[in-house]
Amino acid sequence: VTLSRHFASTRFTMAPISKETDFLVIGGGSGGLGAARWASSKYGVKAMIIESGRLGGTCVNVGCVPKKVTFNAAAVAETIHQAKSYGFSVQETAPFDWTTFKRKRDAYITRLNGIYERNLTNDKVEYVRGWAKFLSPNSVEVTLDDGTKTVVNAKKIVVATGGRPTSPPPIPGADYGINSDGFFDIETLPKKVALVGAGYIAVEFAGMFNALGVETHLFIRYDTFLRTFDPLIQETVVKEYERLGVHVHKHSMITKIDKDATTGLLTAGYKEHDKDGVLADVDHLIWAIGRTPQTDNINIESSGVKLNERGHVVVDKYQNTSVDNIYALGDVSGGVELTPVAIAAGRRLSMRLFGGEQFKTQHLDYTNIPSVVFAHPEIGSIGLTEPQAVEKYGRDNLKIYKTSFTAMYYALMDLDEKGPTAYKLICAGPEEKVVGLHILGLGSGEMLQGFGVAVKMGATKADFDNCVPIHPTSAEELVTMR
Ligand code: FAD
Ligand code: NDP
Repeated sequence: VTLSRHFASTRFTMAPISKETDFLVIGGGSGGLGAARWASSKYGVKAMIIESGRLGGTCVNVGCVPKKVTFNAAAVAETIHQAKSYGFSVQETAPFDWTTFKRKRDAYITRLNGIYERNLTNDKVEYVRGWAKFLSPNSVEVTLDDGTKTVVNAKKIVVATGGRPTSPPPIPGADYGINSDGFFDIETLPKKVALVGAGYIAVEFAGMFNALGVETHLFIRYDTFLRTFDPLIQETVVKEYERLGVHVHKHSMITKIDKDATTGLLTAGYKEHDKDGVLADVDHLIWAIGRTPQTDNINIESSGVKLNERGHVVVDKYQNTSVDNIYALGDVSGGVELTPVAIAAGRRLSMRLFGGEQFKTQHLDYTNIPSVVFAHPEIGSIGLTEPQAVEKYGRDNLKIYKTSFTAMYYALMDLDEKGPTAYKLICAGPEEKVVGLHILGLGSGEMLQGFGVAVKMGATKADFDNCVPIHPTSAEELVTMR
């Protein structure tokens, strides 16, 4: 890694950098790559991408990809545990070598970095390794790895600088905790961890640690986590986490963290329902309390681009900012912070700007975006939650279909081994258009994509029922609900 970094930086400091470009993209993550590659490969636009870190951005390096690989490791651990129910004599406490696993995971990510770099070369996008900041609405200063600075003028600029983990609240010892980036640096399997937060990251990490046999404490501010999800999801998954052995500390907050200088172990003081508590011998405390847009250190004031109160770049549905010829997309513009959203917005922007008359009104439709939380079990969701649907259509105009059952996978297992499956369809109007679909249970992540197509096309309950069920699956329940 050190060698390839060395060559990478040598190569990019030595190569002459264009001083003028037509399409300058700041940030080589999901959205930036989507925009720059599409513009150059499809329309022959002279495009440049500036990336200060590793190509692929958050998703590839410290997000979706290494997370899903870790989720897969956790799934293998669960399968080993469940194997005896199917007659296998598997050693229950199969040792898990996290260090080897991490090394292989890191190598996979490094391979991906290389593939991303080759893709840029193939697509003829000029790749500059450095840190960009605005000088004016059409010029940026790039500080290269070796400290040299260069100025690039551009006809159009895309801000795709993403976000970073939100800093912890100012409590004593807060910095002894790590964040989601630090999670991917953990070298050995911890014995005990604490996670703070109630969103995707805290819930996914807590589920994975717990499945890998780590004593897992999750600190949340209210009664449930994933509070933006349908109540069925919130209630079922919180109960399931408790059943699986995650210590869910409700109505809690961390008040203080100490670190033992000899062992490196942490002691966290906390309040839970107004009672004081102490959690000792914690290997890692992970803050997962949201993400902050990367706009406070790129001299964005010089561009004149407007930010909202949370620091996101304000954009319209075309990704236009408040300044002509400057666009923003992906996490830096807030909204739905998912990789495929950033990619789709980037590609559509390039189509609109460079694709000619037929794409002049092209933009990403931000409604009905499917999303999966890789929790235990997996959660899938598209469209409105029940409270949102009631607000939009009124209770009397809705029909809600719900089911919960035990998936056949658990049929041979003891009662205390059986995980939940729960599905909800929210249908609106006399035609019963499906305006919300919420699923949790084994395989929900893979199931949602197909149902997402149906919902996006405006399917009704009758359309669902017209599709012959696939038996025996869990998914068949979604087309046979009464
Ligand atoms: P990023 O991918 O963050 O890319 C921005 C890039 O800009 C970075 O590489 C950064 O180094 C660079 N940059 C910033 N400032 C500058 C500058 N001034 N000069 C040069 N370069 C700069 N999404 C999913 O869809 N599915 C998942 O399973 C999923 N899991 C996730 C798990 C975790 C732990 C996290 C943190 C996120 C996850 N996400 C997931 C969200 C997903 O990673 C983001 O939505 C996505 O990466 C956003 O893409 P982006 O291009 O907007 O920003
Ligand atoms: P989220 O915005 O999803 O959740 C953070 C939550 O933490 C808040 O909603 C809040 O919940 C809680 N919180 C906020 N401040 C505090 C605090 N001071 N103390 C305790 N809890 C606090 O952020 P994440 O960091 O989990 O993830 C960022 C984004 O990345 C996600 O929104 C998602 O878009 C994306 N992502 C997607 C994944 C996927 O697709 N599978 C996986 C991981 C990330 P409350 O108000 O209930 O306390």
